[in-house]
Amino acid sequence: MHKAHRVMKYKSRTRRAKSTGQTLSPISGHTRTVSYLGLPPRFRNEPRPLLSFILRVLDGKHRQMVRQHLEYFLRFDFQIPTPEIERIQRRLRGDPSLFQCAVNGMISSMREMADMWIDSGKSRTEREVDFPTDRNVEDVLPGRACSLALLIYRSLLRSHPVYKEMRRDGSQTITETYPRFDPQSHWKLEDALQAHGTKWAAFYFSGLLDSPFSRHISRCDHCKAYFAYHRARLRKVKHGVFCLACERQSSVKRTEGSRNRRLDTAAKERIEWESRRKGPAPPEWIAEQVNKRHGTAFGRRWVSQNLEKILERVEALHNAKG
Ligand SMILES: [Zn+2]
Repeated sequence: MHKAHRVMKYKSRTRRAKSTGQTLSPISGHTRTVSYLGLPPRFRNEPRPLLSFILRVLDGKHRQMVRQHLEYFLRFDFQIPTPEIERIQRRLRGDPSLFQCAVNGMISSMREMADMWIDSGKSRTEREVDFPTDRNVEDVLPGRACSLALLIYRSLLRSHPVYKEMRRDGSQTITETYPRFDPQSHWKLEDALQAHGTKWAAFYFSGLLDSPFSRHISRCDHCKAYFAYHRARLRKVKHGVFCLACERQSSVKRTEGSRNRRLDTAAKERIEWESRRKGPAPPEWIAEQVNKRHGTAFGRRWVSQNLEKILERVEALHNAKG
């Protein structure tokens, strides 16, 4: 009974696999689907695994994660030993810091691609205006030698193998594979490793561009940190893009700024009153002047609550006049 149950379960699983349209690879006998499951395991449960991984690469603080990732896949490229491969392996073993070229290549290229993509949605004349809907890979941006599309073609797409795969019903599809290390003999090993890192950056970044999350990624105008919105911004941002931390700071500054301007008005009005009449200005009257000027709705309470600050300003203004 138990055994029969297991067999049935197995059968239904195979049937399900075939009916969901998976491909049948003649080489391994297994279905071969290259997806972003190659990402380190901890990203698989994230709601946006690829975007989370890219942000982690961009922040530059996770070099060890990038290194482990690149080394993991390099093992497959080194599976068939040739004299050339053996020579490279010896050099990498002899100098572990050499592999940093690949790590640097991946991080710096990921940043370059993210910047090109994000900047393609920004206004060329007003630096604070951002319209992610306008983002594209075709424009050659000021200060750049080529478009993002050309950069990705050069570093990945032109040499990236794709395979045709067949399903049970005979229909076919194209699948791709992970980037391979290409130790071209006329290249210095440092350059080949750097190019390998760039290829991986292009692999993932082009994946992001081809996903629903391509317009979620953004960069803070203030601290330059990369971050992701929960939803793509559909409206034009007119007063700069800020990460959560900088947004909080700038709104505090904005609040302080308008508070200070109101207190300045109160002080000036008080001086104005005193210059014409004897005695201090009534709080109701000061509040009324501030409300007229700043569109607020303060009463006498606001003036008495801030009296100390207003008097400080009155004194400062008197001193300034000498
Ligand atoms: Zn910031």
